[in-house]
Amino acid sequence: MKTSRTQVDERRTAASVLVIGTGAAGLRTAIELAECGTQVLCVGKRRRDDAHTVLASGGINAALGTMDPEDGWEQHAADTLRESYWLADPRTVELLCREAPAAIDDLVRYGAQFAREDDGRLTQRFFGAHRWRRTCFAGDYTGREIQRALVRRATELGVAMRDDVYVTRLLVHDGRVFGAYGFDLEEGSRWIIVADAVVLAAGGHTRIWRRSSSRRDENTGDAMRLGAEAGCRLRDMELVQFHPTGMVFPEESAGILVTEAVRGEGGILRNAVGERFMERYDPERLELSTRDRVALANYTEIAEGRGTEHGGVLLDVSQLDRDLVLRRLPRMYRQFIDLAMLDITRAPMEVAPTAHYSMGGIRVDAETHATDVEGLYAVGECATGVHGANRLGGNSLAECVVFGRIVGAEAARWSAGLDAQVRDRAAIAAAREEVDELLARRGEEFARPLQRAVRDLMSECCGVVRSGDGLEQGLARLAEVAARADAMEVRPDIAGYDDLAHAFDLQGSLLAARATLQCALERRETRGAHNRLDFPEQDPRFQMNLVWTIDGTVTREPVPPPSRAVAALSERPAAAIPGRLLE
Ligand SMILES: Cc1cc2nc3c(=O)[nH]c(=O)nc-3n(C[C@H](O)[C@H](O)[C@H](O)COP(=O)(O)OP(=O)(O)OC[C@H]3O[C@@H](n4cnc5c(N)ncnc54)[C@H](O)[C@@H]3O)c2cc1C
Repeated sequence: MKTSRTQVDERRTAASVLVIGTGAAGLRTAIELAECGTQVLCVGKRRRDDAHTVLASGGINAALGTMDPEDGWEQHAADTLRESYWLADPRTVELLCREAPAAIDDLVRYGAQFAREDDGRLTQRFFGAHRWRRTCFAGDYTGREIQRALVRRATELGVAMRDDVYVTRLLVHDGRVFGAYGFDLEEGSRWIIVADAVVLAAGGHTRIWRRSSSRRDENTGDAMRLGAEAGCRLRDMELVQFHPTGMVFPEESAGILVTEAVRGEGGILRNAVGERFMERYDPERLELSTRDRVALANYTEIAEGRGTEHGGVLLDVSQLDRDLVLRRLPRMYRQFIDLAMLDITRAPMEVAPTAHYSMGGIRVDAETHATDVEGLYAVGECATGVHGANRLGGNSLAECVVFGRIVGAEAARWSAGLDAQVRDRAAIAAAREEVDELLARRGEEFARPLQRAVRDLMSECCGVVRSGDGLEQGLARLAEVAARADAMEVRPDIAGYDDLAHAFDLQGSLLAARATLQCALERRETRGAHNRLDFPEQDPRFQMNLVWTIDGTVTREPVPPPSRAVAALSERPAAAIPGRLLE
């Protein structure tokens, strides 16, 4: 239905539950809602078959015991908690690990083709820091296969999905959500979507660093802004996983992931003066050391002036048999030929740490993933609780599908139990005015260079290694960029409303960057992915989660203890199993 209130085309629609995000988390939530018989609308700002989830390659974890019958969910939970440096919420982790096998069954039921043994069992492989083989995979296209299966199932169920709606604001009255406001990316027409419940499944914030394994215009911190402005608190925003090896050259490919498998297959790291520098950082495990240690080593070599011309270190597989490289690392071979005209069987790759995964995000209830706002849930990479200070590879896809199911059921229950809802016209008007105001603004600034300024300052002031002075400087620089954004001009054109989307992406990035810097300043210790030059030791007083509110306040929240069985298992030394890749 069109309204006559504004000159722009404004449409109003209603859903029992609105899901924002069509990646693995959003789609799995929508499927559960549809299976519960609840009407659902699922929207995204990018084509559903190309959501960020399709980049996931390595696999998805569940303690199925198909290869190692000794495995069980308790050991999966113990591994996850230990590697989180005891910052993950044990209740969330235990739920994840208990439910992951059923979530894999669901994916198989939806038609996901995971690798299998000759006798039909699902093949499971090692991923770093797991005690047993528990990672299911589909070649190195696991994310794409899962996304495909979820899209297919959602379509079969008749889930209403739109790929062209950019959500700019959640509609809230008196602490309770009643929908969202947005615009059509092509035509610019506006959407008022009224809903009993809203689920945020809109991804993380790792695109706010110069080198990022996310593509352009994804993971710009939208979920964090939408949530925080609606009244949610964020948690552990400083905990961002930097993958040790991203491409550095050419510039337009900077950050694209160079898989851990390169080191697993025997890739050697050297600095620009030819030293195999991992001998200094982890003489026993060398290149097979943990992800955070290799990232720190690469960063240090570059920062201390032993980096390459383009600001990286060298990762070399040219000493390996050419056939083996072509067989075992075909995607990497193709990636470097396509993007850098480099034959990795003859010359080393240039790599550097790249922002990879948001371990912090919207603070949610440990079990239901309800947020601080009634009727609003958060799930997937935008939520927090599972990974603490270091994410185990393969756990985030599991998180998306396990908690997608749980949140779908919770939102369905909330919707069914709602007697009445106030649809506050003032809240709708404020959302409308925000878009109008951006479109009317005239000035000297444009979104893209300002996004670049945020990425530069986050890389320089809040990268792999941080310090109090650097973080303070980062906040000051961020305030300057925010002030420049007030003079930002937005000019949609015949090609569509991308420019308006970039302006909102920038707002998300500004908020996510501020939260990250303020939490990083507060965490005065070194733990997992968070390295403070001025506080180089882990400090037991910080075995706490940091909770951020939009006014910039950061408070500490205790982490509950794990169950006794899981705690006991986490103390067992890791088994020395041949062929195991340590991340
Ligand atoms: C290179 C790479 C490899 C990886 N490999 C693995 C792996 O092997 N195993 C593993 O477990 N994890 C892996 N991960 C992590 C994993 O892929 C992600 O954490 C996961 O896919 C996140 O899914 P999601 O559904 O939460 O969000 P996403 O897939 O990011 O989806 C977010 C959705 O929100 C929508 N959206 C965002 N903002 C708005 C807005 N303002 N309005 C409307 N819609 C919006 C987007 O369009 C999109 O549909 C990898 C990540 C990368 C980058």
